Amino acid sequence: MYRAGVIARYGRYLPVSDATPEVSLGEGWTPLIRSRRIGPSLDLPQLFFKYEGLNPTGSFKDRGMALATAKAMEAGAHTLLCASTGNTSASAAAYAARYGLRAFVLLPAGGVAKGKLAQAMAYGARIVAVRGAFDDALKLVRALADVPGVAIVNSINPFRLEGQKTAGFEVVEQLGAVPDRVFLPVGNAGNITAYWRAFRELHEREGLPLPRMHGAQAAGAAPLVTGKPVARPRTIASAIRIGNPASWEGAIRARDESHGSLEAVTDAAILAAQRRLGAEEGLLAEPASAAPLALLIRMVDQGLIAHHERIVCIVTGNGLKDPTTLTRGLQLPASVVPSVDRIRKLVSRGRRKG
Ligand SMILES: *Cc1c(COP(=O)(O)O)cnc(C)c1O
Repeated sequence: MYRAGVIARYGRYLPVSDATPEVSLGEGWTPLIRSRRIGPSLDLPQLFFKYEGLNPTGSFKDRGMALATAKAMEAGAHTLLCASTGNTSASAAAYAARYGLRAFVLLPAGGVAKGKLAQAMAYGARIVAVRGAFDDALKLVRALADVPGVAIVNSINPFRLEGQKTAGFEVVEQLGAVPDRVFLPVGNAGNITAYWRAFRELHEREGLPLPRMHGAQAAGAAPLVTGKPVARPRTIASAIRIGNPASWEGAIRARDESHGSLEAVTDAAILAAQRRLGAEEGLLAEPASAAPLALLIRMVDQGLIAHHERIVCIVTGNGLKDPTTLTRGLQLPASVVPSVDRIRKLVSRGRRKG
């Protein structure tokens, strides 16, 4: 029988036992999609997108949340607690709802995309809007670690990263090889740490080669690029609007051990990449999830990428999460009378190539 979920599929590589409930919303095994138009336009025929926006709550956070929830239940917790820029709260709220736990989520007031806030509310989480940035909310959560029955499900919870590493296993299985380079957005730096762990484990277990890891931060929130925390992180990409990453060391290690890079990209480049993903690939990404493509495009311009390389960009979250950004600057089309002749003219006026 087919069993969905990262615990069912990868339990033998995860810290689970017979006492761990098989928590799942069907997360993982998201498609690895070969680029049809952007790759060829960059002279990169082997560019792929790992579309993590197709997880149950629309982001990769579900992988780690499945395991973190399972381990919380195993330990007898009744409440999941997290600070979040949005996607962690949506994910925690969904898994809590499914398993009859409480979810308490601390969000930076005014700093969360509408879709994510709507999700947390719809899944029945208790929401606390904190006057401050994500980093302030995370500080509060850390200070509440001793409340009985409460499990912190931020990526400082080691089971989050263990669950998230399953995405690295999938990339290798789906591609049939280890990619030459992996590009992903970096906020709290949990995900780049988790991917690197996956590739290291495959290297040690099966002798596979290692990819080079490239982390993209937003220019206004790039502590790992400048080397010091950012007091007031600014970027349109709210999922990576983080000034003091919890997994700082993990990101540096992934960069150095893989001979990769951590680089900043501007909001303008992020938005341009987001538009290209939608209009040229049919892939809707939230802004943070387009940052890796923005970095790749720049590196191609700089002549740093060879034509034959196999490259995977991780599209971490679904574009529907943040409709405000998607529609910013766009005009809704004017309405027309329902006349066949009129619309026939419009439809016949020529078509786009591609
Ligand atoms: C959480 C998140 C990130 C950042 O991941 P980190 O592990 O915090 O570096 C990037 N994109 C999306 C869509 C996210 O939800």
